[in-house]
Amino acid sequence: EKLPADPETSNEIRQVYEAMFSYVTPKVPLHPKLVHASAEVAQLIGLSEQSISSDDFIAVFSGKKVLEGTKPFAMCYGGHQFGNWAGQLGDGRAINLFEVQNQGQNLMVQLKGAGKTPYSRRGDGLAVLRSSIREHLCSEAMYHLGVPTTRSLSVMETGEKVLRDILYNGNAAYEKGAVVCRVAPSFIRFGNFEIFAARQDVKNLKLLADFCIETYFPSITTTGKERYIAFFQEIATQTKELLIHWQRVGFVHGVMNTDNMSIHGITIDYGPYGWLEGYDPHWTPNTTDAQGKRYRFGNQPHIALWNLLQLANALYPLIEETQALERILEQFNTDFQSDFNAMMLNKLGITKRHKENENLIHQLLITLQETETDMTIFYRLLARISKNDSESEALQKIKPAFYQEAEIKDSVQETWYFWLSLYLNSLKQETVADAERKRSMDLVNPKYVLRNYMAQLAIEAAEKEDYSLVDELAELLKRPYDEQPEYEKWFAKRPDWARTKIGCSM
Ligand code: AMP
Ligand code: MG
Ligand code: MG
Repeated sequence: EKLPADPETSNEIRQVYEAMFSYVTPKVPLHPKLVHASAEVAQLIGLSEQSISSDDFIAVFSGKKVLEGTKPFAMCYGGHQFGNWAGQLGDGRAINLFEVQNQGQNLMVQLKGAGKTPYSRRGDGLAVLRSSIREHLCSEAMYHLGVPTTRSLSVMETGEKVLRDILYNGNAAYEKGAVVCRVAPSFIRFGNFEIFAARQDVKNLKLLADFCIETYFPSITTTGKERYIAFFQEIATQTKELLIHWQRVGFVHGVMNTDNMSIHGITIDYGPYGWLEGYDPHWTPNTTDAQGKRYRFGNQPHIALWNLLQLANALYPLIEETQALERILEQFNTDFQSDFNAMMLNKLGITKRHKENENLIHQLLITLQETETDMTIFYRLLARISKNDSESEALQKIKPAFYQEAEIKDSVQETWYFWLSLYLNSLKQETVADAERKRSMDLVNPKYVLRNYMAQLAIEAAEKEDYSLVDELAELLKRPYDEQPEYEKWFAKRPDWARTKIGCSM
């Protein structure tokens, strides 16, 4: 083992120093039962589709059975939560089982909700069925949307009850316990570096950085401080690409603390996440962030940069100069802006580069807020506009994306006419035919996303042991960009009953 491990093998809650991780024993669940598994992820780790229903599969991926020769462990990390340094956090309810080598890929397999670890602090180390289904469905949906993410192999009920509060009118309630099995190159976060830096443990900081570079960034061949600068550059670039994807599909993470930022630029930790329905850059799904709205949709790129600054600070002892790091952070901003514009033009189906393009994007982002407009539906309908449409024909086509479709104010209509005139003007300059443009727009504008109410319906059925809706959504979300006539009912605005916040405490 190259990385420093905690000398003690115990799940007892404690501060762990000079160690990357602690060996732990997963909690044996009472009556594990499979809710859903992804055959694709099973294949990724070398398991056949048939193996999914086997007793062994259920035993291993529920935490009941530790495979011979493996040593499960929980990682030590710290983090900035809502902008403040929070000290040691760590895998409070995640346990890494083992690493799989398959088809030239190394993948870490991790349980979430398999009991206490040294890092559980005041938590119980458990997860509930509700949040576990949300994580399982959303991580797979994100993968199929082309968004870098941890994968989810399975979700199981544990057959045990878990106490959760802040639910159902503020009263504590028992819920079904569950365990999710996630898969990723690694679950190493910015916070793994921050904890060593905060403790001025430069020796282990360096060991960790060297391990990560060797293992996950083998293309970095420079030496000395250049090596760590290149490492930071890679993480910054991948994080920037991730954020472009989030903004493209309307995903709001909700808890972008530095302990939830992967060094691989993948989406990690599906907690109170949500999808934009009405386009609103100020929206956050996280009710505990309602005041500051730090993690609102429109602020995500800025927060990613802030988090990268914390990582830069943590890596500083290995580099001991700020110039290169500052340059990378500045570059993030400029690159993000140009990548964002390119992404937006793809969403709009504009291939010609013009100086009016920026204004077209800018005006759209304002116009989208004039009346509550469903982001996902809007872009799909936009692709149906043809070059020769009048403004009013074009407006008729996108109108079904408006939540108050029937009662659009004149001023709102005027604003849309204005934007549509700009858009139609741009389209007229395109050499690409309407049908072809629609095809390419439909490749970047998903038709189906995991709206909160959809997950909620699947959860409510699953609570009654009916997993058919979980199955259906998992199938639907495998092809989010395709027309799926049999699932047309899921291409719909959020129903009125789902307008108020759906409980999503963890
Ligand atoms: P999160 O906000 O989900 O990223 O969690 C922040 C920290 O709290 C992490 O260290 C988690 O491992 C820990 N945590 C969250 N829920 C629990 C729980 N039920 N039991 C123990 N630790 C938890
Ligand atoms: Mg977390
Ligand atoms: Mg979480």
